[in-house]
Amino acid sequence: MKPTQKIRKRTIILLTFLLIVVLGFCIPETYVIPVKKATRRDWHRDSFWYYPWGKSVVHKGIDIFAPEGRDIVASTGGLVIWKGEMGRGGNVVVVLGAKWHCQYYAHLKSYQTGWFSMVRRGETIGKVGTTGNAAGKEPHLHYAIFTLVPYPWRWDGSRQGWKKMMYLNPDQLLP
Ligand SMILES: [Zn+2]
Repeated sequence: MKPTQKIRKRTIILLTFLLIVVLGFCIPETYVIPVKKATRRDWHRDSFWYYPWGKSVVHKGIDIFAPEGRDIVASTGGLVIWKGEMGRGGNVVVVLGAKWHCQYYAHLKSYQTGWFSMVRRGETIGKVGTTGNAAGKEPHLHYAIFTLVPYPWRWDGSRQGWKKMMYLNPDQLLP
């Protein structure tokens, strides 16, 4: 292959990649509260980035309290990219959705979805539980949103403030 052909090939790969990233941002993103029957009163408004928060230092999501076994639904549609145990989260499901945002659901009692399933907004993906570091606590869904494309302007002076480039506040996005 001639050097100019090589450059052309690389340019095409790069442009395709950029196009895919841009297209991801064009997908509209609408949310529902990810626990059936839950309302905004079921989590504390200020629990996002609450400090101190044990081994996690700051709380990177919100805790939606609900009876054990209550349905957890996808807050927004996407592709299941993780289903399984994940350290302090216990049983965890991660869904990649629009705008390269990942929806993280933790402490599940059981799953109702599978690896690489496409889930629709409002579709049941599991049950509320107390797995991981929620053991012995009130059953709740730990719900977090992180972005694969970082937002540098969100970095602030708070504890682990640089991580705010990756974590969004669910309280601001949920209806
Ligand atoms: Zn939590």
